[in-house]
Amino acid sequence: MYIKLCTPSEITQWARYIWNRLSVPKHRFSLWLALLDRHKTKYRLHQYGISTDNLCAICGSAPETSAHLFFECSYSLDCLAAVTDWLGLSCTRKNFLQILNWTRRYCKSAFKRKIIFAAVAGLVYAIWRPRNTLVWEGAVPAVATVIQTLKYSVKQRAIQLCQDRINELDKSWLFAL
Ligand SMILES: [Zn+2]
Repeated sequence: MYIKLCTPSEITQWARYIWNRLSVPKHRFSLWLALLDRHKTKYRLHQYGISTDNLCAICGSAPETSAHLFFECSYSLDCLAAVTDWLGLSCTRKNFLQILNWTRRYCKSAFKRKIIFAAVAGLVYAIWRPRNTLVWEGAVPAVATVIQTLKYSVKQRAIQLCQDRINELDKSWLFAL
């Protein structure tokens, strides 16, 4: 019982992902909703009798759950592949919490870890937003457009907040992104 009480809970682990100052605040909020499984997905709305079906608004081939959107859906998988390629991540996990945990364990640079946490938070936001655009406006933006916006916002925030406080190695990595 003592060990159980002393072991940091999963929520404590999440805190470092959410309260990462390099994350854009609206991205942070979206990640928090995803970690708590609180996005108003069609699966949830269908359970409440609000939506007529529970299928993914983007691909229509599976129930729209949080797990499907982040990142089992073909659209989100393409977005994830673009981001892992951009950051040079060797992580092959396909679930956002697994990616965050993998980064915490294996990424040696504290600065890079924060950038990856910020990028994953941005990715959750970047997928939820086009999903909403599709539901309300009937069109989903191209993956390239979504990722370009994500890269810009993550990089600009990091440059604004950190460029004078990081070592040369991290700085050259950031500017090369
Ligand atoms: Zn889908």
